[in-house]
Amino acid sequence: MEFEAVIGLETHVQLSTKSKIFCGCSTAFGAPPNANTCPVCLGMPGVLPVLNEDVLRRAVMVGLATGCRIAERTKFDRKNYFYPDLPKGYQISQYDMPIATGGAITITLADGAEKVIGLTRVHMEEDAGKLIHGENLGHPDSSYVDLNRAGVPLLEIVSEPDIRSAEEAKKYLEKLKAILEYLDVSDCNMEEGSLRCDANVSIRPKGQKEFGTRAEVKNMNSFRFLQRAIEFEIARQTQVVTEGGRVIQETRLYDSARDVTVSMRGKEEAHDYRYFPEPDLPLFTASQEYIAAVRASLPELPDDKRRRFERDYSLPRYDAEVLTASRAVADYFEEAAKGAANPKIISNWVMGDILRLVKERNTAPQSLPVTPAMLREMVTLMDEGVISGKIAKTVFEEMANTGKAPRAIVAEQGLTQITDTSSIEAEVDKIIAANPDQVASFKAGKDKVLGWFVGQVMRATKGKASPDVVNEILKQKLSA
Ligand code: ADP
Ligand code: MG
Ligand code: ZN
Repeated sequence: MEFEAVIGLETHVQLSTKSKIFCGCSTAFGAPPNANTCPVCLGMPGVLPVLNEDVLRRAVMVGLATGCRIAERTKFDRKNYFYPDLPKGYQISQYDMPIATGGAITITLADGAEKVIGLTRVHMEEDAGKLIHGENLGHPDSSYVDLNRAGVPLLEIVSEPDIRSAEEAKKYLEKLKAILEYLDVSDCNMEEGSLRCDANVSIRPKGQKEFGTRAEVKNMNSFRFLQRAIEFEIARQTQVVTEGGRVIQETRLYDSARDVTVSMRGKEEAHDYRYFPEPDLPLFTASQEYIAAVRASLPELPDDKRRRFERDYSLPRYDAEVLTASRAVADYFEEAAKGAANPKIISNWVMGDILRLVKERNTAPQSLPVTPAMLREMVTLMDEGVISGKIAKTVFEEMANTGKAPRAIVAEQGLTQITDTSSIEAEVDKIIAANPDQVASFKAGKDKVLGWFVGQVMRATKGKASPDVVNEILKQKLSA
């Protein structure tokens, strides 16, 4: 029997506000343990939470950017559970009246087709603190509580079960991350846990309408782990069903070292959170004026920017998609393409060598020694015939290593392309004289030998000869 996977993702994103969601404490990363705390986020009795407007604003931004309806009336609820990193004994979250519902994220599949993944909801909540176990601190029998993170604002973004493969899940999360980065609501640092997600995975026989029983894989903080965990989960469930068993509803954890998911708790141990309305925060309304003002402040978003790149720079869809996947890369490209004769050539260099450097050096394109203006100048030198494509590679590496401008590099190292025919002719004559056998086989009709000759001349001129000129002269001399 053939099976189909059904997947829904719950994504948590930490908002990069200056202060926490219900108190004025700093959210700065790396402060000494418990330095960023006050009676509110320590969960002292008798204190009152006050909503940080910047959290609401960012939640509305995300809701609008993903096509959600913004709730007219919204409220907070208490999600009750016990854990040492949660001094209040409950997390303030949103249950049945979230700030935003019913949006969508569009992804592009490998064959170029678009697919719309529904968004169920976006809601605001507070993060919990952190437990530090003493093994690494020389106190193996102690655990420590750091509440700096308690009360840091989060958004939870829940997708509909519209995703059908690990690849689609990855594309969904990439697109969501791009939107969050464009909005600048979070640093989206996955390694530090600012963006993490749970995957709900089930399988069903192809053609069946009803969903199968799902397993929920918790807390993945990299695209690779998300993909691997889903792939493992689909294979595991398929095997269970194929062998006549039944998938049970449970929570699982992905163990990256072994590349498997393992059971954490079953349905019987599932938490009953006893949600109820937070009595210390009133039901509230985001006014139409407020929502309109937030909407007016939204930047151009990835899909719009992609369409504009296709139109304004005549780029293929693929290029526009790669360049707009990150706002920083898109900005870099636009700066480099300013007044450029052929934006496609700029696009090739950005998608190739610039993105390679960004990855190698793990940095933003704006921090590279190669500025957009330098890249544009280098492409201009190629257009003007001053340097060949091959020399451009050398110039690029030199820019990447020294930050020197392309014209300076070309002048300093004498890399100017040789277009002067007499000096190329001299090289051609030398090579023809030294290789009578090759000349004979060219004359006998072996056209391919021409390429070999071009190679020899290019090597003799250290790549500086113009390949077009070399070709022309060779053809002429060999046919003489
Ligand atoms: P909970 O809050 O208990 O995790 P939700 O109903 O909020 O449950 O669903 C959480 C996620 O699970 C959503 O992303 C939803 O799309 C997804 N989901 C629901 N049912 C299934 C299913 N049968 N298979 C896969 N994903 C599912
Ligand atoms: Mg869940
Ligand atoms: Zn505080």
